[in-house]
Amino acid sequence: MKAIHVQRRVAFFCPSSSIFTKNYAVTIPELYSLFLLHPSVETDTRKLKKGDLFFALKGPSFNGNTFALKALEAGAAYAVIDEPIAPNNGRLILVDDVLTTLQQLARHHREQFNIPFIAITGSNGKTTTKELVHAVLASHYTTCTTQGNLNNHIGIPLTLLRVQKDAQFAVIEMGANHQKEIEGYCTYVQPTHGIITNAGKAHLEGFGGEAGVRKGKGELFDYLRAHNGVAFAFNDYDYLHEMSAGIPTIEWYGTTSGTVTGEVAHSEPFLVLKMTSGVNFKALSTQLVGSYNLPNVLCAVAVGKHFNVPEDKMVAALSQYTPSNSRSQLVNAGSNKIILDAYNANPSSMKAAIENFAKVEAAQKILLLGAMMELGPESIAEHQQLVDLIARYNWHAVALVGGDFAKVSHPYHYFQNAAAAAEWLKAQNFTDSYLLVKGSRSIGMEKVIQ
Ligand code: ATP
Ligand code: MG
Repeated sequence: MKAIHVQRRVAFFCPSSSIFTKNYAVTIPELYSLFLLHPSVETDTRKLKKGDLFFALKGPSFNGNTFALKALEAGAAYAVIDEPIAPNNGRLILVDDVLTTLQQLARHHREQFNIPFIAITGSNGKTTTKELVHAVLASHYTTCTTQGNLNNHIGIPLTLLRVQKDAQFAVIEMGANHQKEIEGYCTYVQPTHGIITNAGKAHLEGFGGEAGVRKGKGELFDYLRAHNGVAFAFNDYDYLHEMSAGIPTIEWYGTTSGTVTGEVAHSEPFLVLKMTSGVNFKALSTQLVGSYNLPNVLCAVAVGKHFNVPEDKMVAALSQYTPSNSRSQLVNAGSNKIILDAYNANPSSMKAAIENFAKVEAAQKILLLGAMMELGPESIAEHQQLVDLIARYNWHAVALVGGDFAKVSHPYHYFQNAAAAAEWLKAQNFTDSYLLVKGSRSIGMEKVIQ
């Protein structure tokens, strides 16, 4: 392998610690020319393919720099590092900070494109909306999107770097749990279009309450306002009117008014929409469990309409989309049916899921709920409210697992963790039952039914 072409300035010697400190010779355009030759970026040596560009990121319990030489051995073309580990190795590119370099490279790549970049944020339903919007656009255009839930400061730049030359659209999910996070993402995503699915009770701790959530998620709309962008928003949520005020173009979707309107025809368990205006089709069947998916589907229809996706393609894409990863999934287990929604939980999504499940017709309904995390000082009160909501309906059995469910009073079964709940469930031997399984990711509620 030839030595790297970028000029590497000689590091200066630091007598106090006797190590070479960093050299900063690589400019982003220079690194970008390497990326064009090696357009596959990897941050995990276990997934590395020959010719990849390895970025040695650091985490709370690992330091990618220590894997850089291994990455080269495994076939990486170059490794980008921020600790001087082997000064004479021409395939190691030493930068000031690997993460910042990754984000700057992603920004540089994004700036090569003059296509719509649609950013999606919100408290609930980002991934589902992203998948649905992608399904609609990809039925007619070459569209790149976030894989799975890679929606953070690492996943977003990696997603941008996967946008291919022939892309006509990019759909980017942005997650956030504190102020200024979305603002930061916007500097490299530079969205032309944006969706805030909702701004409810999620990550209350990091954002500082519900008003804080709106401000934080609203940073996407702030960016669109300042950059002549286009917003898509659910007309039924009053707060989205306030948050989107001043954006030059807003495409509303809703149950009663908007460019596209529709309502729930059935949701027991799969959501069927009755479309009331904006499109020529009257009904739309989905494979999504839960009426809370209504705005997610309407949003995808509004985006499809805005970008002139033929309606037949839109309908086919939306009716075929099947969720995975324990999000709004329906699982058959013997004579039992399980709504597996164990991907995450917060007060808004718990309420939506329980109210939806309450409407499902079944002789024997069982709730298996894991605790909600990251709620800060409101956590106990939120768990109490949830228990009060549960008490409004009739259930055959209710099992609550972990976290602050331990700290509220309720008449239900309580287990410290998913494994203990699984033991209990096994012993019950339920048949002909309908189960709702939901909880925060860290509780791992999917283990209860395994
Ligand atoms: P994350 O923050 O983990 O990325 P997300 O915002 O991407 O989550 P999804 O993964 O799409 O959200 O959905 C997670 C769960 O949120 C769903 O399984 C469902 O229970 C709930 N949910 C989805 N859409 C909505 C919605 N529009 N309103 C309320 N709850 C929703
Ligand atoms: Mg998500």
